[in-house]
Amino acid sequence: MLKTVQRYRLFSEGDIVAVATSGGKDSLSLLYILNKYSKQLGIRVFGLLVDEGISGYREHTVKHALEVSKRFGLEIEIVRFSDEFGMTLDQMVEVSRKAALPYGPCTICGVLRRYLINRYARELGATKVATAHNVDDEVQVFLMNFVRAGVSSMGREGIAAVAQHRKFVQRVKPMYFCSEKESTVYAILNGLYPPFVECKYIVYSFRLPAREMINEYEACRPGSKYRLLALKTYLWLKLSRNIKHTQLKTCTICGEPASSDICKACQILSDLKKYRKVPDVG
Ligand code: SF4
Ligand code: ZN
Repeated sequence: MLKTVQRYRLFSEGDIVAVATSGGKDSLSLLYILNKYSKQLGIRVFGLLVDEGISGYREHTVKHALEVSKRFGLEIEIVRFSDEFGMTLDQMVEVSRKAALPYGPCTICGVLRRYLINRYARELGATKVATAHNVDDEVQVFLMNFVRAGVSSMGREGIAAVAQHRKFVQRVKPMYFCSEKESTVYAILNGLYPPFVECKYIVYSFRLPAREMINEYEACRPGSKYRLLALKTYLWLKLSRNIKHTQLKTCTICGEPASSDICKACQILSDLKKYRKVPDVG
């Protein structure tokens, strides 16, 4: 991982790095390693944990993250959907279902989590956001983009995501070349491994079939994941030349970066609001 950080110059001296932390093994390992080598890299590191409010799951990973942070002296900031949006993800999913809105749990979760991570990272002074996407995550997303012909997404999301907007904090992926297995072993050996709980909404995720398919391929043809990663990276390099850095707009409601006049977070929240009172963001 440190080789990736150095080879791709993911950080500059003086960077303040917010590690998007879920309390899972990958993000805690990333936070632990970056914190351990922060002096050597010349950076300051803190964890940013978004508690979406997913019962039976998130309370366990938050508890584990706090225990780990205490044990290893890691700084973690927690941001909660319920405080920010007036509802937990569980409540939002319920409203969305009852009102037949076109938002599945993972769409709401992903959009609002990314929104909070970017906003809080910036407000807490971070110059970079580091996410714990590993080889398995990357090839799953590649397959998902492939199936929905998401060519522009393929050109945007590589080892770093850069977009032009004064409020956008650059995202980097130091674990881009680490496999899930490596990360698991590292977490076990260093006492970072969380209790085994999985989000109840995973069954609705488009990621699940992608994960199963790729794992089956890997079992039959070892090395498939890294070959897919190589193809993904090649396409990203080719496509990103044409895309340049994405110029984002500013959301007319909350003032945050957006790909259209209203950001996706505000779109979702305003739809939910029609069926249940949710405070404005921003
Ligand atoms: Fe969020 Fe979906 Fe992941 Fe659950 S499975 S944490 S709802 S993105
Ligand atoms: Zn907005």
